[in-house]
Amino acid sequence: MKVLVLNCGSSSLKYQLFDMTGEEVMAKGLVERIGIEGGRIKHTKTGMDSVVSDSDFPNHKVAIKAVLDCLLHGEHGSLQSLEELRAVGHRVVHGGEKFAKSVVVTADVLRTIDECTPFAPLHNPANLLGIKSMMEILPKVPQIAVFDTAFHQTMPERSFIYGVPYHYYETYRVRRFGFHGTSHLYVAHRAAEMLGKPLENLKIVTCHLGNGSSIAAVDGGRSVDTTLGFGTVSGVLMGTRCGDVDPVAVLHLMQEEGLDSKAMSHVLHKDSGVLGISGISSDLRDVEDAAAGGNRRAKLALDILCYGVKKYIGAYAAAMGGLDAVVFTAGVGENSVLVREMVCEGLEFLGALFDKSKNAVRGKEAFICKPDSRVALLVVPTNEELVIARDTLSLVS
Ligand code: AMP
Repeated sequence: MKVLVLNCGSSSLKYQLFDMTGEEVMAKGLVERIGIEGGRIKHTKTGMDSVVSDSDFPNHKVAIKAVLDCLLHGEHGSLQSLEELRAVGHRVVHGGEKFAKSVVVTADVLRTIDECTPFAPLHNPANLLGIKSMMEILPKVPQIAVFDTAFHQTMPERSFIYGVPYHYYETYRVRRFGFHGTSHLYVAHRAAEMLGKPLENLKIVTCHLGNGSSIAAVDGGRSVDTTLGFGTVSGVLMGTRCGDVDPVAVLHLMQEEGLDSKAMSHVLHKDSGVLGISGISSDLRDVEDAAAGGNRRAKLALDILCYGVKKYIGAYAAAMGGLDAVVFTAGVGENSVLVREMVCEGLEFLGALFDKSKNAVRGKEAFICKPDSRVALLVVPTNEELVIARDTLSLVS
């Protein structure tokens, strides 16, 4: 049972081919610079060296054809025929309020994804291009859409309604949507498996800390709150995104600096966060190095990030009325020993006993708490592609 997973960006495309019998990745790859000169495809068949080839990909359809050629290639391919593909799963960033679960793509679904474009203007059009190209190339193969926002559709109104006049929600759907849902869902499930307890009985705070970051309160397997909102800048400090900022400060800056909404949006999305505070880099590795060398603003960036994560762990424990586990995932959460230490030190009052000696892990599943810790502290590498492949298979089975 072979399932292809596609994650289409505006100029790039990531893919993974799964054999779902044993949930194994057979091949994966990346196409870059779609629609721009100097395109490149990197394809890796599991167990073999990667093959890189340079070629122009004027649009997503051409890029997808190149991916299918790689998958069918006599030497580094993994398929004899495209008939082996049971279905294709697509990552779609925004499903608005319409999609609380993954769905089989129909004309109606395409229309609704398009209607959500104003909420994710960079991502949804690219996701749609990927789906439509696949439908043209493989008209008989079912296409499944898996949404980043879907997992958070279980949030109660008190978590997702903002304190602005209610008619703005009714007219424009201005509300908290939340993102990284597939990742929060995956790591919460894995945490329950690692703890050997049913997810339904657990209160978990999942910390997806990467270039973009969000924290979620997962109560009984359902998201009840999360830090990203209508857009993707709120919550904790990110690589280049600001995290929580008083909206009045934003209005003040626009006035003082003469910035229009586009210019201000650039400041909040691209010039802020770890980069904006440290003045060094958006990559936390560079900032950790600078902080170790005594750079004051690098230390401040780390401090703001870790304080923010710690604050939300406490807030979400209070929101859920208890806490059984805290999970760290994504680039920073899986790899930064320092960030996990700075977040977890001082949580004893919550019943979380951090174990520094177990924390020296990168990119693999681990418990980083003492055996008698009432609250488990865990590292779980995320696997959004596997969730997409599982949802895809279950919808066509
Ligand atoms: P992601 O968006 O999940 O791919 O995460 C990417 C980010 O993870 C990078 O920008 C780095 O800031 C961070 N990262 C990756 N490896 C490490 C590491 N060893 N230590 C600290 N940060 C890391």
